[in-house]
Amino acid sequence: MSVKENMLEILEGIDIRFKEPLHSYSYTKVGGEADYLVFPRNRFELARVVKFANQEDIPWMVLGNASNIIVRDGGIRGFVILCDKLNNVSVDGYTIEAEAGANLIETTRIALRHSLTGFEFACGIPGSVGGAVFMNAGAYGGEIAHILQSCKVLTKDGEIETLSAKDLAFGYRHSAIQESGAVVLSAKFALAPGSHQVIKQEMDRLTHLRELKQPLEYPSCGSVFKRPVGHFAGQLISEAGLKGYRVGGVEVSEKHAGFMINVADGTAKDYEDLIESVIEKVKEHSGVTLEREVRILGESK
Ligand SMILES: Cc1cc2nc3c(=O)[nH]c(=O)nc-3n(C[C@H](O)[C@H](O)[C@H](O)COP(=O)(O)OP(=O)(O)OC[C@H]3O[C@@H](n4cnc5c(N)ncnc54)[C@H](O)[C@@H]3O)c2cc1C
Repeated sequence: MSVKENMLEILEGIDIRFKEPLHSYSYTKVGGEADYLVFPRNRFELARVVKFANQEDIPWMVLGNASNIIVRDGGIRGFVILCDKLNNVSVDGYTIEAEAGANLIETTRIALRHSLTGFEFACGIPGSVGGAVFMNAGAYGGEIAHILQSCKVLTKDGEIETLSAKDLAFGYRHSAIQESGAVVLSAKFALAPGSHQVIKQEMDRLTHLRELKQPLEYPSCGSVFKRPVGHFAGQLISEAGLKGYRVGGVEVSEKHAGFMINVADGTAKDYEDLIESVIEKVKEHSGVTLEREVRILGESK
């Protein structure tokens, strides 16, 4: 029996697409094919895929909303598990529990509907809950670490564990999941009662700020670089004269130099070359070495 036949038999009933191009799923609109793109409907299906992949020694990885990644043009070998169908969200008192694939922006709107405060900072971050925990996503002074109570994970070996915020060792755009290789299944957020009107005003204010400052009309992966201590990446890039600097179809945004936008059918190679070039030029100009926030995955063509 071929690997594919074996897979179809053991993973029967699970939505698997073969040789699926990833560019249409990714916020940057670049990237080659996944060998097997899987859409588990629940954590049991997800666990079955991980078990099968481990047994067959096939590489696997999970993605949320693909808003903080660049998939290389040669694509990703093995399984890419997309969590967007694991998207239940429930509210219990002042706590929200959301599955990993729940949309973060939608989750902040649910908090608003229940007049719960604490989640406003994330109202414009286009990730999933799982990706946001993995990255300790944050904005405007807030971050996931401030509100996460606990999260359920599937370990690399297929065990389900509950981790506290302390176990996750959060830091700036960092969580322990980045080293452990576990899959976030769901997260519980501790919020506080607030005024619907005040929460809404704050979310509207932050949305307005984003629209004003970020090139949201173009494909991008948000801020490409982490904030260097004592500086702002966008400002350093701008001071190095790199606004509008372009490689192939990807350019440094004129509106926000921390963003790289795909303006003309750019490729992952264009992104990578532009990133390398910007790091070099900023180092030359200011002496600061920029560190990537966006994650680059897969194989070159
Ligand atoms: C226009 C724009 C604005 C943005 N603004 C912000 C901002 O203000 N603040 C900010 O922090 N980020 C921002 N981002 C980046 C991005 O939205 C966040 O990093 C977000 O948390 C990524 O979530 P995701 O689901 O898209 O993750 P993905 O891009 O799908 O994946 C990112 C990483 O997380 C891992 N991952 C995803 N899901 C899971 C899971 N369930 N379990 C384990 N690992 C997982 C993936 O393997 C990958 O390594 C922005 C992006 C864009 C495009």
